Amino acid sequence: MHIHPKITPIYQTSVFKFEDLNELELYFGEPGSRYLYSRNGNPNSDELAEAVTHLEGGAGAVATGSGMAAIFAALLTYCTAGDHVLCAADIYGGSAALLNQELDRLGIGVSYVPFEDLTTNLAAYAQPRTRLLLCETISNPLLRVVDLRAAAEAAHALGLKLVLDNTFASPVLTQPFEYGADLVMHSVTKYLAGHSDVTAGVVVARTPEDAARLRQIGTLFGLTLSPMESWLAVRGIKTLRLRMEAHSRNAQAVAELLAQHPAVQEVFYPGLAQHPQHTLAREQGAGRFGGMVSFRLLDDSTNAVSRFMRASQRFPFAPSLAGVDSSLSYPAGTSHRALTEEQRQELGITAGLVRLSVGIEPVEELLADLHQALEATVV
Ligand SMILES: *Cc1c(COP(=O)(O)O)cnc(C)c1O
Repeated sequence: MHIHPKITPIYQTSVFKFEDLNELELYFGEPGSRYLYSRNGNPNSDELAEAVTHLEGGAGAVATGSGMAAIFAALLTYCTAGDHVLCAADIYGGSAALLNQELDRLGIGVSYVPFEDLTTNLAAYAQPRTRLLLCETISNPLLRVVDLRAAAEAAHALGLKLVLDNTFASPVLTQPFEYGADLVMHSVTKYLAGHSDVTAGVVVARTPEDAARLRQIGTLFGLTLSPMESWLAVRGIKTLRLRMEAHSRNAQAVAELLAQHPAVQEVFYPGLAQHPQHTLAREQGAGRFGGMVSFRLLDDSTNAVSRFMRASQRFPFAPSLAGVDSSLSYPAGTSHRALTEEQRQELGITAGLVRLSVGIEPVEELLADLHQALEATVV
Protein backbone atom coordinates (compact mmCIF):
# COMPACT_ATOMS: atom_id res chain seq x y z
CA MET A 1 0.00 0.00 0.00
CA HIS A 2 1.27 3.45 -0.90
CA ILE A 3 -0.06 6.32 1.17
CA HIS A 4 0.64 9.79 -0.14
CA PRO A 5 -0.88 12.35 2.20
CA LYS A 6 -1.05 15.83 0.73
CA ILE A 7 -0.47 17.36 4.15
CA THR A 8 2.31 16.23 6.49
CA PRO A 9 0.67 13.96 9.08
CA ILE A 10 1.17 14.60 12.78
CA TYR A 11 4.14 12.46 13.85
CA GLN A 12 2.87 12.08 17.40
CA THR A 13 5.83 10.05 18.56
CA SER A 14 8.59 10.85 21.04
CA VAL A 15 11.10 8.45 19.44
CA PHE A 16 11.91 6.75 16.12
CA LYS A 17 12.92 3.14 15.40
CA PHE A 18 16.13 1.87 13.79
CA GLU A 19 16.48 -1.31 11.73
CA ASP A 20 19.97 -2.10 13.02
CA LEU A 21 23.24 -0.51 14.10
CA ASN A 22 24.05 0.38 10.49
CA GLU A 23 21.07 2.65 10.40
CA LEU A 24 22.11 4.24 13.69
CA GLU A 25 25.48 5.05 12.08
CA LEU A 26 23.66 6.57 9.10
CA TYR A 27 21.73 8.82 11.48
CA PHE A 28 24.98 10.29 12.77
CA GLY A 29 26.83 10.11 9.46
CA GLU A 30 24.16 11.77 7.32
CA PRO A 31 22.66 14.56 9.41
CA GLY A 32 19.06 15.29 8.44
CA SER A 33 18.54 11.87 6.79
CA ARG A 34 16.71 10.29 9.75
CA TYR A 35 15.02 11.07 13.02
CA LEU A 36 16.08 9.72 16.43
CA TYR A 37 14.23 11.46 19.22
CA SER A 38 11.60 14.21 18.99
CA ARG A 39 13.31 16.62 21.39
CA ASN A 40 16.25 16.67 18.93
CA GLY A 41 14.07 16.86 15.83
CA ASN A 42 10.66 15.85 14.55
CA PRO A 43 9.17 16.14 11.02
CA ASN A 44 6.47 18.54 12.25
CA SER A 45 8.71 20.92 14.18
CA ASP A 46 11.18 20.82 11.28
CA GLU A 47 8.37 21.71 8.87
CA LEU A 48 7.51 24.73 11.03
CA ALA A 49 11.16 25.80 11.31
CA GLU A 50 11.57 25.50 7.53
CA ALA A 51 8.38 27.43 6.81
CA VAL A 52 9.48 30.38 8.95
CA THR A 53 13.06 30.19 7.64
CA HIS A 54 11.60 30.53 4.15
CA LEU A 55 9.29 33.43 5.08
CA GLU A 56 12.09 35.33 6.81
CA GLY A 57 14.76 34.50 4.25
CA GLY A 58 17.13 32.99 6.85
CA ALA A 59 19.53 30.03 6.91
CA GLY A 60 17.79 27.85 9.50
CA ALA A 61 15.66 27.91 12.61
CA VAL A 62 14.55 26.15 15.74
CA ALA A 63 10.90 25.86 16.76
CA THR A 64 10.42 26.34 20.50
CA GLY A 65 7.75 25.67 23.11
CA SER A 66 6.85 29.37 23.41
CA GLY A 67 7.92 32.84 22.35
CA MET A 68 9.68 33.16 25.71
CA ALA A 69 11.71 30.02 24.96
CA ALA A 70 12.60 31.61 21.61
CA ILE A 71 13.91 34.78 23.31
CA PHE A 72 15.87 32.65 25.77
CA ALA A 73 17.40 30.59 22.94
CA ALA A 74 18.22 33.75 20.98
CA LEU A 75 20.00 35.38 23.93
CA LEU A 76 21.95 32.20 24.76
CA THR A 77 23.16 31.93 21.16
CA TYR A 78 25.42 34.93 21.77
CA CYS A 79 25.71 35.35 25.55
CA THR A 80 27.52 33.62 28.37
CA ALA A 81 27.99 34.49 32.06
CA GLY A 82 29.64 37.90 32.41
CA ASP A 83 28.12 39.25 29.20
CA HIS A 84 25.76 42.16 28.85
CA VAL A 85 22.87 42.94 26.51
CA LEU A 86 21.20 46.13 25.38
CA CYS A 87 17.44 46.02 25.23
CA ALA A 88 14.99 48.54 23.81
CA ALA A 89 13.05 50.16 26.67
CA ASP A 90 9.82 49.53 24.73
CA ILE A 91 9.89 45.76 24.95
CA TYR A 92 7.46 42.93 25.66
CA GLY A 93 7.03 42.67 29.44
CA GLY A 94 8.03 39.01 29.49
CA SER A 95 11.34 39.77 27.76
CA ALA A 96 12.19 42.38 30.40
CA ALA A 97 11.15 40.02 33.21
CA LEU A 98 13.36 37.23 31.78
CA LEU A 99 16.34 39.58 31.63
CA ASN A 100 15.75 41.22 35.02
CA GLN A 101 14.61 38.27 37.10
CA GLU A 102 16.41 35.26 35.61
CA LEU A 103 19.28 36.05 33.25
CA ASP A 104 20.66 38.69 35.58
CA ARG A 105 21.24 36.08 38.31
CA LEU A 106 23.02 33.88 35.73
CA GLY A 107 25.45 36.72 35.17
CA ILE A 108 23.98 38.18 31.98
CA GLY A 109 23.39 41.88 32.63
CA VAL A 110 21.05 44.25 30.83
CA SER A 111 20.74 47.99 30.15
CA TYR A 112 17.64 49.54 28.63
CA VAL A 113 17.89 51.96 25.74
CA PRO A 114 15.14 54.56 25.20
CA PHE A 115 13.56 54.51 21.74
CA GLU A 116 15.17 57.82 20.71
CA ASP A 117 18.68 56.48 21.45
CA LEU A 118 18.42 53.11 19.67
CA THR A 119 19.85 54.35 16.41
CA THR A 120 21.68 57.54 17.34
CA ASN A 121 23.27 57.05 20.75
CA LEU A 122 23.74 53.33 21.29
CA ALA A 123 27.42 53.66 22.22
CA ALA A 124 26.46 55.52 25.42
CA TYR A 125 24.90 52.30 26.76
CA ALA A 126 27.45 49.73 25.58
CA GLN A 127 29.92 48.04 27.92
CA PRO A 128 33.11 46.06 27.12
CA ARG A 129 31.16 42.78 27.20
CA THR A 130 27.96 43.91 25.52
CA ARG A 131 27.06 41.26 22.93
CA LEU A 132 23.78 42.26 21.35
CA LEU A 133 20.87 44.62 20.97
CA LEU A 134 17.36 43.20 21.44
CA CYS A 135 14.42 45.15 20.04
CA GLU A 136 11.02 44.75 18.38
CA THR A 137 10.13 45.74 14.80
CA ILE A 138 6.91 47.35 16.06
CA SER A 139 6.81 47.96 19.79
CA ASN A 140 4.16 47.04 22.33
CA PRO A 141 1.90 48.80 23.25
CA LEU A 142 2.63 52.17 21.58
CA LEU A 143 3.40 50.76 18.13
CA ARG A 144 6.65 52.62 17.70
CA VAL A 145 8.53 51.49 14.61
CA VAL A 146 12.28 50.96 14.84
CA ASP A 147 14.41 52.00 11.86
CA LEU A 148 15.91 48.55 11.35
CA ARG A 149 18.67 49.52 8.94
CA ALA A 150 19.88 52.27 11.27
CA ALA A 151 19.60 49.97 14.32
CA ALA A 152 21.61 47.24 12.55
CA GLU A 153 24.29 49.74 11.53
CA ALA A 154 24.49 51.19 15.04
CA ALA A 155 24.73 47.72 16.59
CA HIS A 156 27.27 46.36 14.10
CA ALA A 157 29.44 49.49 14.44
CA LEU A 158 29.85 48.52 18.12
CA GLY A 159 30.43 44.84 17.28
CA LEU A 160 26.99 43.85 18.58
CA LYS A 161 24.52 41.39 17.08
CA LEU A 162 21.00 42.59 16.35
CA VAL A 163 18.26 40.29 17.68
CA LEU A 164 14.84 41.23 16.38
CA ASP A 165 11.50 40.24 17.87
CA ASN A 166 9.37 40.37 14.72
CA THR A 167 6.15 39.16 16.39
CA PHE A 168 4.02 42.28 15.80
CA ALA A 169 5.04 42.79 12.16
CA SER A 170 5.26 39.17 10.96
CA PRO A 171 7.45 38.43 7.91
CA VAL A 172 4.55 39.47 5.65
CA LEU A 173 5.15 43.09 6.65
CA THR A 174 8.86 43.08 7.42
CA GLN A 175 11.79 40.71 6.91
CA PRO A 176 14.45 42.03 9.32
CA PHE A 177 17.33 40.09 7.68
CA GLU A 178 16.98 42.43 4.70
CA TYR A 179 18.00 45.26 6.99
CA GLY A 180 20.89 43.46 8.66
CA ALA A 181 19.38 41.61 11.65
CA ASP A 182 21.36 38.59 12.89
CA LEU A 183 18.57 36.62 14.57
CA VAL A 184 14.83 37.01 14.13
CA MET A 185 12.41 35.52 16.63
CA HIS A 186 8.64 35.21 16.89
CA SER A 187 6.03 34.34 19.40
CA VAL A 188 4.37 31.88 16.98
CA THR A 189 1.46 32.05 19.45
CA LYS A 190 0.54 35.34 17.79
CA TYR A 191 0.25 36.04 14.03
CA LEU A 192 2.16 33.03 12.68
CA ALA A 193 -0.24 30.48 14.19
CA GLY A 194 -2.93 33.14 14.26
CA HIS A 195 -5.94 31.38 15.82
CA SER A 196 -5.29 31.76 19.57
CA ASP A 197 -5.01 28.00 19.98
CA VAL A 198 -1.24 27.36 20.04
CA THR A 199 1.62 28.41 22.32
CA ALA A 200 4.88 28.28 20.35
CA GLY A 201 7.94 30.22 19.28
CA VAL A 202 10.67 30.21 16.65
CA VAL A 203 14.13 31.70 16.19
CA VAL A 204 15.60 32.07 12.71
CA ALA A 205 19.31 32.66 12.05
CA ARG A 206 20.93 34.52 9.17
CA THR A 207 23.93 32.15 9.09
CA PRO A 208 24.12 28.32 9.09
CA GLU A 209 26.54 28.49 12.07
CA ASP A 210 24.06 30.38 14.22
CA ALA A 211 21.26 28.06 13.07
CA ALA A 212 23.28 25.06 14.27
CA ARG A 213 23.91 26.77 17.63
CA LEU A 214 20.18 27.45 17.95
CA ARG A 215 19.30 23.83 17.32
CA GLN A 216 21.81 22.64 19.91
CA ILE A 217 20.46 25.12 22.48
CA GLY A 218 16.91 24.00 21.70
CA THR A 219 17.83 20.34 22.15
CA LEU A 220 20.03 20.61 25.24
CA PHE A 221 17.87 23.06 27.18
CA GLY A 222 14.79 21.11 26.07
CA LEU A 223 13.13 24.14 24.51
CA THR A 224 11.82 22.40 21.39
CA LEU A 225 8.19 22.22 20.28
CA SER A 226 5.78 19.25 20.27
CA PRO A 227 4.51 17.67 17.00
CA MET A 228 0.86 18.67 17.52
CA GLU A 229 1.61 22.34 18.23
CA SER A 230 4.02 22.43 15.28
CA TRP A 231 1.38 20.99 12.98
CA LEU A 232 -1.22 23.58 14.08
CA ALA A 233 1.29 26.39 13.58
CA VAL A 234 2.16 25.14 10.08
CA ARG A 235 -1.52 25.08 9.20
CA GLY A 236 -1.90 28.64 10.49
CA ILE A 237 1.07 29.90 8.47
CA LYS A 238 -0.60 28.82 5.21
CA THR A 239 -3.05 31.73 5.56
CA LEU A 240 -0.62 34.24 7.12
CA ARG A 241 -0.41 36.41 4.02
CA LEU A 242 -4.20 36.66 3.63
CA ARG A 243 -4.72 37.25 7.33
CA MET A 244 -2.13 40.03 7.54
CA GLU A 245 -3.83 41.85 4.65
CA ALA A 246 -7.21 41.60 6.41
CA HIS A 247 -5.81 42.53 9.86
CA SER A 248 -4.10 45.58 8.34
CA ARG A 249 -7.18 46.72 6.41
CA ASN A 250 -9.48 46.39 9.43
CA ALA A 251 -7.00 48.03 11.81
CA GLN A 252 -6.65 51.02 9.49
CA ALA A 253 -10.42 51.55 9.54
CA VAL A 254 -10.51 51.11 13.33
CA ALA A 255 -7.65 53.59 13.84
CA GLU A 256 -9.40 56.13 11.62
CA LEU A 257 -12.65 55.79 13.58
CA LEU A 258 -10.81 56.19 16.90
CA ALA A 259 -8.85 59.19 15.62
CA GLN A 260 -12.00 61.19 14.97
CA HIS A 261 -14.01 60.05 18.02
CA PRO A 262 -14.49 62.69 20.76
CA ALA A 263 -14.12 60.09 23.58
CA VAL A 264 -10.56 59.33 22.44
CA GLN A 265 -7.56 61.44 23.38
CA GLU A 266 -4.82 59.82 21.32
CA VAL A 267 -4.46 56.95 18.83
CA PHE A 268 -1.31 54.95 18.17
CA TYR A 269 -1.26 53.24 14.78
CA PRO A 270 1.61 53.38 12.26
CA GLY A 271 -0.87 53.61 9.39
CA LEU A 272 -2.12 57.03 10.49
CA ALA A 273 -0.40 59.97 8.82
CA GLN A 274 0.15 61.63 12.22
CA HIS A 275 2.15 58.63 13.53
CA PRO A 276 5.75 59.83 14.05
CA GLN A 277 7.23 56.92 12.04
CA HIS A 278 4.46 56.69 9.44
CA THR A 279 6.76 56.99 6.41
CA LEU A 280 9.30 54.55 7.80
CA ALA A 281 6.51 52.12 8.73
CA ARG A 282 5.18 52.28 5.17
CA GLU A 283 8.61 51.42 3.76
CA GLN A 284 9.38 48.65 6.25
CA GLY A 285 5.87 47.23 6.08
CA ALA A 286 5.47 47.24 2.28
CA GLY A 287 2.47 49.54 2.67
CA ARG A 288 0.80 47.52 5.44
CA PHE A 289 0.78 48.40 9.11
CA GLY A 290 -0.50 45.32 10.93
CA GLY A 291 -3.45 44.66 13.20
CA MET A 292 -2.47 46.28 16.51
CA VAL A 293 -4.02 49.61 17.50
CA SER A 294 -3.64 51.39 20.86
CA PHE A 295 -5.56 54.40 22.10
CA ARG A 296 -5.90 56.58 25.16
CA LEU A 297 -9.40 57.43 26.32
CA LEU A 298 -10.22 61.09 26.85
CA ASP A 299 -11.24 60.04 30.36
CA ASP A 300 -7.78 58.60 31.14
CA SER A 301 -8.97 56.38 34.01
CA THR A 302 -9.47 52.73 34.95
CA ASN A 303 -13.21 53.37 35.42
CA ALA A 304 -13.60 54.55 31.84
CA VAL A 305 -11.66 51.49 30.60
CA SER A 306 -13.93 49.17 32.59
CA ARG A 307 -17.00 50.85 31.11
CA PHE A 308 -15.53 50.35 27.62
CA MET A 309 -14.78 46.67 28.34
CA ARG A 310 -18.26 45.98 29.69
CA ALA A 311 -19.92 47.65 26.70
CA SER A 312 -17.85 46.06 23.93
CA GLN A 313 -19.18 42.82 22.43
CA ARG A 314 -16.51 42.24 19.78
CA PHE A 315 -13.32 43.05 21.71
CA PRO A 316 -13.20 40.69 24.73
CA PHE A 317 -10.52 41.50 27.29
CA ALA A 318 -8.06 38.67 26.71
CA PRO A 319 -4.44 39.60 27.30
CA SER A 320 -2.90 38.17 24.16
CA LEU A 321 -3.05 39.27 20.55
CA ALA A 322 -3.01 38.52 16.85
CA GLY A 323 -5.80 35.96 16.60
CA VAL A 324 -8.37 36.00 13.79
CA ASP A 325 -10.95 37.12 16.39
CA SER A 326 -10.50 40.64 17.77
CA SER A 327 -9.53 41.14 21.40
CA LEU A 328 -8.46 43.86 23.77
CA SER A 329 -5.65 44.14 26.27
CA TYR A 330 -4.85 46.50 29.08
CA PRO A 331 -1.07 47.13 29.20
CA ALA A 332 -0.96 48.84 32.63
CA GLY A 333 -2.65 45.81 34.25
CA THR A 334 -1.10 42.96 32.26
CA SER A 335 2.01 43.15 30.04
CA HIS A 336 3.47 46.17 31.89
CA ARG A 337 2.15 45.37 35.36
CA ALA A 338 5.64 44.59 36.72
CA LEU A 339 6.89 48.12 35.99
CA THR A 340 6.70 50.89 38.58
CA GLU A 341 4.07 53.61 38.10
CA GLU A 342 6.91 55.98 37.25
CA GLN A 343 8.32 53.65 34.55
CA ARG A 344 4.84 53.27 33.04
CA GLN A 345 4.33 57.03 32.92
CA GLU A 346 7.75 57.39 31.23
CA LEU A 347 6.66 54.93 28.52
CA GLY A 348 3.26 56.63 28.14
CA ILE A 349 1.32 53.67 29.57
CA THR A 350 -1.38 55.52 31.49
CA ALA A 351 -4.59 54.29 33.18
CA GLY A 352 -6.73 54.97 30.10
CA LEU A 353 -4.50 53.23 27.54
CA VAL A 354 -6.15 50.31 25.75
CA ARG A 355 -4.60 48.06 23.11
CA LEU A 356 -6.78 46.44 20.49
CA SER A 357 -5.85 43.40 18.49
CA VAL A 358 -8.01 43.86 15.43
CA GLY A 359 -9.19 40.60 13.89
CA ILE A 360 -10.47 39.71 10.44
CA GLU A 361 -14.22 39.99 11.09
CA PRO A 362 -16.47 42.09 8.82
CA VAL A 363 -15.13 45.57 9.53
CA GLU A 364 -18.52 47.31 9.81
CA GLU A 365 -19.38 45.04 12.76
CA LEU A 366 -16.17 46.04 14.54
CA LEU A 367 -16.70 49.74 13.88
CA ALA A 368 -20.31 49.66 15.13
CA ASP A 369 -19.22 47.88 18.30
CA LEU A 370 -16.40 50.31 18.98
CA HIS A 371 -18.66 53.26 18.40
CA GLN A 372 -21.18 52.14 21.01
CA ALA A 373 -18.48 51.07 23.50
CA LEU A 374 -16.80 54.48 23.23
CA GLU A 375 -20.14 56.19 23.88
CA ALA A 376 -20.37 54.14 27.08
CA THR A 377 -17.09 55.60 28.39
CA VAL A 378 -18.65 59.06 28.54
CA VAL A 379 -21.01 59.32 31.53
C1 LIG B 1 3.64 37.21 23.29
C2 LIG B 1 4.95 37.79 22.98
C3 LIG B 1 6.13 37.16 23.38
C4 LIG B 1 6.14 35.91 24.21
O1 LIG B 1 5.59 34.83 23.51
P1 LIG B 1 4.85 33.57 24.21
O2 LIG B 1 4.47 32.74 23.06
O3 LIG B 1 3.71 34.11 25.01
O4 LIG B 1 5.86 32.93 25.11
C5 LIG B 1 7.33 37.75 22.99
N1 LIG B 1 7.37 38.90 22.29
C6 LIG B 1 6.25 39.53 21.90
C7 LIG B 1 6.37 40.79 21.12
C8 LIG B 1 5.01 39.01 22.23
O5 LIG B 1 3.90 39.65 21.86
